[in-house]
Amino acid sequence: MTIDPWSPGHPPQPEPAPLDQTPLALEPSESELRELADACFAFVEEQRALTLDELAARPAPPLMGKAPRLDACRPASLASVLDELRAATEQSWNTGSPRYMAFVPGGGLPTAVFGDFLALALNRYVTLQGMAPGLARVESSVVRWLCDLVGYPDSAFGVLTSGGSASILTAVIAAREARLAGADLRQAALYVSEQGHASVHRAARAAGLPPDATRVVPVDTQFQLDPEALSAMIERDRWQGRRPFLIVASAGTTNTGSVDPLAPICDVARRHDLWVHADAAYGGFFILTERGRRLLEPLHRCDSITLDPHKGLFLPYGTGALVVRDRAHLVRAFARQAGYLRDLATEGPDPDAADLSFELSRELRGLRVWLPLRLHGVSAFREALDEKLDLAQHASRALAEDPRFELVSEPQLSTVAFRVRSGRSAELLESVNASGRALLSSTLLRGDVAIRLCILGFRTHLSHVDEAIAAIRAAAT
Ligand SMILES: *Cc1c(COP(=O)(O)O)cnc(C)c1O
Repeated sequence: MTIDPWSPGHPPQPEPAPLDQTPLALEPSESELRELADACFAFVEEQRALTLDELAARPAPPLMGKAPRLDACRPASLASVLDELRAATEQSWNTGSPRYMAFVPGGGLPTAVFGDFLALALNRYVTLQGMAPGLARVESSVVRWLCDLVGYPDSAFGVLTSGGSASILTAVIAAREARLAGADLRQAALYVSEQGHASVHRAARAAGLPPDATRVVPVDTQFQLDPEALSAMIERDRWQGRRPFLIVASAGTTNTGSVDPLAPICDVARRHDLWVHADAAYGGFFILTERGRRLLEPLHRCDSITLDPHKGLFLPYGTGALVVRDRAHLVRAFARQAGYLRDLATEGPDPDAADLSFELSRELRGLRVWLPLRLHGVSAFREALDEKLDLAQHASRALAEDPRFELVSEPQLSTVAFRVRSGRSAELLESVNASGRALLSSTLLRGDVAIRLCILGFRTHLSHVDEAIAAIRAAAT
């Protein structure tokens, strides 16, 4: 009898290990490793075949029962371990599916996997350059590329993070140290629009700021921050004895992909001597395209920028970045002081990654970005992102033409938010997702449910968007 460890209420019971199983040595032989590699590769290819259409894409089933216990006592064969993993993988939203347009897709480029494979296999210590200067520079070349992409000067630098949330926390701390060092944080104030990402509020709390430090600025009809309202709030707060220090502008909101008016916001910041952070986690890489560049050109004026390669560069989850206009601010906030690291004093032109964020030991994250860029070339990414902008225009036209739907805003990037005029958006979403033809998600905009198509998967093409629209129309009938 096989036991389904996920079945509700079933006590967690490990699969019995085959009796003839000898545990794999910690240092396997080459042929053992090859066997592992072949089996894992076959598993991955089987999963990719499922991802590559034309099978249904559906939400994960609801969580039931307890998580199975890890059986670490009786070593199992790779085949049985992969069977377990297969069963676990089946119960998931397939975020790599071309039909996946929910939340913010990334996709997970297959080639990036080998960047991680190499990075983990080499396992050199790269956050202190002295330990592996050559490899550390592979990663810093990625950071430099990001700085150049946004038009930053030579003073700029940055750090690869685990994602946008880690980037914004790092930025808030850097801004706090730059503008409020030694000040009473109880009076601190930072500004973000009501469409700003929730990670901004969380970062402010984690950076030691009181809950009311985060001031929420209203948006206009296109969900863009209102710079006049921002300026008035800053003046009022100053007058009341607060210490405004930071504005977080969205360069592509999660809800609608709206880009805040970056240049006017930078003008307000300059007038009041505040730090501007641009949250470009979702939207940033559209700067590779001509249309994106027109919207995002002022990014170079911002003091710091979140970029999420696991969104706009289609990389696997766990790949974020923070770049700052003046690297000295990161060093001031994060430079380490540890006697036991004294043998590794840095004299290179770039600071150690360990001096640019709160992380110390970690993987050579840069290879995951570096390898795909080297293998595919940047124009492959530019073309893919340009296609996503076209697809969003296509989807928004198709929905706007249908009298049963209304667009919530004109898409500036690759996110289309709409409502069912009859007011049954939540029901429509459920029925589209149950169809297996497209995976969408919803949000609340001005207090009402809106459905979003976020078109960012590198595998998502015209046929998939047309299929999504057909599914939406069918569900509305
Ligand atoms: C995804 C997202 C974040 C958070 O980034 P994570 O990588 O999920 O931590 C922040 N801001 C915006 C606009 C996002 O879309």
